[in-house]
Amino acid sequence: MGPTLGNPKNTAEILKKYGFAFQKKYGQNFLIDTHVLEKIIRAAEITRDDFVLEIGPGIGTLTQYLAEAAREVAAVEIDRNLIPILEETLREYPNTTVINADVLRLDIGELVREKNGGRPVKVVANLPYYITTPIIMGLFESKVPLESMTVMVQKEVALRMQAGPGTKDYGALSLAVQYFAEPYLAANVPPNCFMPRPAVGSAVIRLARHERPPVEAADEKRMFAIIRAAFGQRRKTLVNALANEKGLGVTKEQVQRALEASGIRADIRGEALTLEQFAQLSGQL
Ligand code: SAM
Repeated sequence: MGPTLGNPKNTAEILKKYGFAFQKKYGQNFLIDTHVLEKIIRAAEITRDDFVLEIGPGIGTLTQYLAEAAREVAAVEIDRNLIPILEETLREYPNTTVINADVLRLDIGELVREKNGGRPVKVVANLPYYITTPIIMGLFESKVPLESMTVMVQKEVALRMQAGPGTKDYGALSLAVQYFAEPYLAANVPPNCFMPRPAVGSAVIRLARHERPPVEAADEKRMFAIIRAAFGQRRKTLVNALANEKGLGVTKEQVQRALEASGIRADIRGEALTLEQFAQLSGQL
């Protein structure tokens, strides 16, 4: 039997059977549209060799599709009220393991070593929106071997992740994501594809991890501190934004000299700088 949950009727039935009450604090919006589920699977390019990590399986809707496509799936779910439901909905998929844990506290490196011999994992998820950025950045910054993340996020967040310099969506998140991965917007998803409907539009974005970062940063942490400071005061010139950020410990004159040495105009704003220019500048500072 193939996947069975991706429609309103079957989802409502199983929720009723277990008397499940949605918990807003966990960002629970379950997918009820088979086309969207199929699109996620296609965008993630899953093969029979793959070990997939799913974050937040809910009642197992996407998990069933992943289990059909992959070699093995591990799904991490925080809400223990969903565990008995997952036992039922994933009964026919012995290649899945459900872990009842908070993904932000789980040792994912250890899990990947155990399940995939340390080879790169594909992450696929309809993410809980209240922790989208910590989950994605946490995975990129950790030492977990990662091939790609194909994730449902708030549409506005997807646009920020793939924005380039000089656009209104461009910011610290764009640069952080693009330092680690190549973003590709795979689908726009309206609220009526979820139960309950979220208040915002959603999108599926695929982040294919770079084998090595596209720029060389002498000190990654320093570069990201500079990027955050630049966008923390995005209406100011870069010189003022960086000099005003006490934590960076740089003066106006130092920033002016660094800009000059990098061949960047002195009156530029952070939002006009490319990742490469930020890397260059942070090397100077
Ligand atoms: N994958 C299901 C689907 O597509 O229908 C559910 C997606 S729902 C948007 C997000 C899921 O993440 C919920 O099941 C929620 O309980 C779970 N979740 C929320 N915070 C979590 C956390 N910190 N760790 C693990 N799972 C979490």
